[in-house]
Amino acid sequence: MACAICPLMSKWTRKLKSTIAGNPAAWRLVKKAQEVKYDYQYFRFHGPYSGSLASTKEINLEFSSACNLRCRFCALDHLKPKSYMSTKVLDKVMESLLHDPRFSRVKTLNLHNGGETLMHPRRVELFERLAHYKKIFHLKNKAYPRVILLTNGMLLREKLSRTLLSLHTLDEVGFSLDGGSPEAFEEMRVNARWEKFAANVEHFIRLKNELSPKVRTFGISIVPHPHPLNDSWMAPDFQRIARMLDSVEYRRLHDWGGQVDIGEQQEVNKKGCEMLLRQLVVLPDGAVTVCCNDLNKKGVVGNVLETDLFDLYRGQERMRYVHLLKEGRKAELELCKDCASF
Ligand code: SF4
Ligand code: SF4
Repeated sequence: MACAICPLMSKWTRKLKSTIAGNPAAWRLVKKAQEVKYDYQYFRFHGPYSGSLASTKEINLEFSSACNLRCRFCALDHLKPKSYMSTKVLDKVMESLLHDPRFSRVKTLNLHNGGETLMHPRRVELFERLAHYKKIFHLKNKAYPRVILLTNGMLLREKLSRTLLSLHTLDEVGFSLDGGSPEAFEEMRVNARWEKFAANVEHFIRLKNELSPKVRTFGISIVPHPHPLNDSWMAPDFQRIARMLDSVEYRRLHDWGGQVDIGEQQEVNKKGCEMLLRQLVVLPDGAVTVCCNDLNKKGVVGNVLETDLFDLYRGQERMRYVHLLKEGRKAELELCKDCASF
């Protein structure tokens, strides 16, 4: 499940963005502030006096490059060969987090990127590995990152929900529910069936209340223009499911780094990128890319099966992104040149 928007953008950032949307002067100020922040972070993590601590705060793990849906707005290339993460790749990442103190800022593991996480044929085995690492982290008195699954919900049947919740490795589970009515949902999320989705969400919430009540649920909902960014206008069936979740983020569509035409002009941030400093994304074959906007391997900087994760983080290829974005030379980066996301 590729996120339609970043579910981890802070509540305040989202609030600020929705408040200033439509006010170009305020928007320019925010962009300026983002550039200043990037300069500061660049100095802190890559300047002459920086230590060896990685700026990375979250790692996205793409369990599956394949997806069972064909959402109209998605940038995922469904023709590329399907691949699924091996336990070897997962172990490489988790061992780096466990043993390398330079990654001590990593607080989140996002189980999503391109594809649908639950499409993995041996998904339970990977979740069991995560549960295993959670125990080891705790035995070593190390903070274990929050684990967040974002799914399109179509494969999260009752039995799988029970299995995943019984492992106690998930902290948050997010569902994508776009459109505002069952008909619009099915129209936007091609191949999805509202009835099945709604039943899966209901079962999941009932089971999580029974087995693992601390698991937080959230929704991400794309709202088409001209509807307001709330559920007041939505169909009762849709509202009922949305209101069962702990929170729902109503957002406009983003353009996946300029790869999807969303029919509206977005201002391209000229300098810096918070996402680049905050994220690393590990793809099913172990390839590491710079951010979650890269659904089709344009920004790969190496592979964890061949190179240590920190060496990829500090490696020449990733640093090329860091330096060029610092200088405002976004146009020279194929992945970034049209990106208006961050
Ligand atoms: S097709 Fe839909 S569910 Fe699948 S990755 Fe794209 S946005 Fe996510
Ligand atoms: S595509 Fe480039 S500019 Fe956009 S979020 Fe990713 S790294 Fe940042």
